[in-house]
Amino acid sequence: MREYKNRYGDVFTFTEDENHDVLWEGNFEYCRIGMPNDYTRAYEAYLKDKEGSQSLMTLTQFKSAVHHYDEETLSYDYPEYIQMVDCLRDEIEMVDPSGGPYLNRGMSLDNLGFEKFIIQDFEKIDTGYKIITEKCPYCNQASGHKMSCSTQKIQINL
Ligand SMILES: [Zn+2]
Repeated sequence: MREYKNRYGDVFTFTEDENHDVLWEGNFEYCRIGMPNDYTRAYEAYLKDKEGSQSLMTLTQFKSAVHHYDEETLSYDYPEYIQMVDCLRDEIEMVDPSGGPYLNRGMSLDNLGFEKFIIQDFEKIDTGYKIITEKCPYCNQASGHKMSCSTQKIQINL
């Protein structure tokens, strides 16, 4: 178990469970959470409008372009699509208790003492949040591999 004291002196604990996820517990009374955007509806509308066009944006390009706000014209580049960007209300992408630490999907837990652990997702639990970590699909380790892992054998044989 690791302890983390934030800017306001609140103490959070981080505990690895048997599945190599990390339980993040403490006082989350003043906490901001972020839910991921869902671009499905907006991107489908874009594809439909631009049907037959030679230069279509990929979904990745679209995700970035749709949020672009032009400071000179004071408008979005694609106002018709930005309002179709939905929010996945039952998913958590970011957790930010007042005073920190700010944690987001894709971030590393190195600074909190879990070397090479990467945040894949968050689940709300009674005492805080369970941080679902990225794991090897073969040996289920969040950091490195078991000696018996097939990816490990491939690396040794190279
Ligand atoms: Zn592995």
